[in-house]
Amino acid sequence: MDKKRVIVVGGGITGLSAAYYLQKEAAQKSLPIEVLLIEASDRVGGVIQTVKKDGFVIEKGPDSIIARKTSGIQLIEELGLKDKVISNTAGKSYILVKGKLHTMPEGSFMGIPTRVTPFAVSGLFSPLGKLRAAADFVLPKGAPQTDQSLGGFFRRRLGNEVVENLIEPLLAGIYAGDIDNLSLMSLFPNFYEMEQEHRSLVVGLKKTMPKPPKPAGGAKKQPARKGMFISLTTGLEEIVIQLEKRLAGSIVKGTGVTEIAQHNDGYQVTLANGSVEMADSVIVATDHFHAQQMLSKYSFMDVFKAMPATSVANVAMAFPKSAIKKDIDGSGFVVSRNSDFRITACTWTHKKWPGSTPEGMALLRCYVGKPDDQAAVNMSDAEIVKLVLTDLNKTMNITEEPLFHVITRWNKSMPQYTVGHKERMAKVKSSLAAELPGVYLAGSSFEGVGIPDCISQGKGAVSKVLDFLQQ
Ligand SMILES: Cc1cc2nc3c(=O)[nH]c(=O)nc-3n(C[C@H](O)[C@H](O)[C@H](O)COP(=O)(O)OP(=O)(O)OC[C@H]3O[C@@H](n4cnc5c(N)ncnc54)[C@H](O)[C@@H]3O)c2cc1C
Repeated sequence: MDKKRVIVVGGGITGLSAAYYLQKEAAQKSLPIEVLLIEASDRVGGVIQTVKKDGFVIEKGPDSIIARKTSGIQLIEELGLKDKVISNTAGKSYILVKGKLHTMPEGSFMGIPTRVTPFAVSGLFSPLGKLRAAADFVLPKGAPQTDQSLGGFFRRRLGNEVVENLIEPLLAGIYAGDIDNLSLMSLFPNFYEMEQEHRSLVVGLKKTMPKPPKPAGGAKKQPARKGMFISLTTGLEEIVIQLEKRLAGSIVKGTGVTEIAQHNDGYQVTLANGSVEMADSVIVATDHFHAQQMLSKYSFMDVFKAMPATSVANVAMAFPKSAIKKDIDGSGFVVSRNSDFRITACTWTHKKWPGSTPEGMALLRCYVGKPDDQAAVNMSDAEIVKLVLTDLNKTMNITEEPLFHVITRWNKSMPQYTVGHKERMAKVKSSLAAELPGVYLAGSSFEGVGIPDCISQGKGAVSKVLDFLQQ
């Protein structure tokens, strides 16, 4: 077999994982395959960025990886980082509704109850709201549909109050979008299947959720629980650093791909600096806007022009603990739309990840940029700090200015899988296979936004490339 060349476009976690697993497979199976990763900016990692300052470990982008999806921990272990893995402290978390903090009802999963009592006693809902949520037990299942909005689905099953005071703030915190536009089938197809099979979501979840382990020896007091998320003592960027080391000599940084075009039996990849690289197969691991631009000759890619992405700003602020007069036991809160707040969430990072913060200090990490308040993202740093402190002071009574702040604006970095996304993706993939065989899309704009989803997509693209090259 002649030596084949694979170009990976985009050096976020998706592209890095793809290049790493491809290089690994090629080495293990002695395949004559060469990998080249091209990254537009002067660093790899994409939205994964950690800064270390005065003993604080500050995540400018993602701060955690869900442990349940194993591709994250698998990659971390392969990179020799097992000793650095930490789990979040599973403290209380809160929802701010109409200006008041409420604890998350125990036993809820993405806001859906699996236990009745914590919901029945929660101050989050009115008696009528609770009654409406209980209708989930008796309501018929919805008619089979190819897709529907997350908001519409949950409103139908559990009522507006549970959606507005619990589900919406949690999901908006993850997807930074309007749940009445987001796609159930792209984000939570399991909930649709649950309804179709069990009718009631609460019953379906109860039946399918793994039970939490019982305390050993019948002990009444449970030991401190580990959370559902992992990170690394040195921050998530450590994964990027290790991947880059392993890909040394195979990465071009500082110039992006402007065009991918068919050429003879392969592809000609043109870079912004004017150089041209040839490839037998290409993995496009950028956001959908850039993917569309580099493949703009192909009308089937036009669908991505209309795919929205929202912006958020991440605001980390360091304080001496003594500055926070009203300390709250827990790891943070998300904000419901019906609250008069402009921040959407706040993590008490020093409590969620105690190792991230020096003794005696507090690290608060907030987000601004609701879907209907995108202007907040582009305010000046001073204005953003003022806005965040004003909001925090409504609940926490902070008496001093932060020792320092780190503000990161993520413009159009939260891709929105709106209703119909899955079907649109299926069409794009089949057009790609027909018109550009050997070119694959992977990454947060396409089939899952979480870090483990992105790693899995990178890995999945590698399998497709190997099948294609071996045809
Ligand atoms: C603020 C924020 C917080 C998040 N929090 C979490 C979290 O806690 N946990 C979690 O699991 N997920 C979280 N996510 C989601 C997750 O981090 C991302 O979905 C994931 O890291 C995206 O990886 P990616 O490689 O697909 O894309 P990106 O990281 O966006 O990387 C794409 C890369 O492509 C490059 N590129 C663009 N155009 C070109 C071009 N023409 N040529 C070459 N290169 C190009 C870009 O410069 C970039 O480096 C968060 C996302 C954001 C924005």
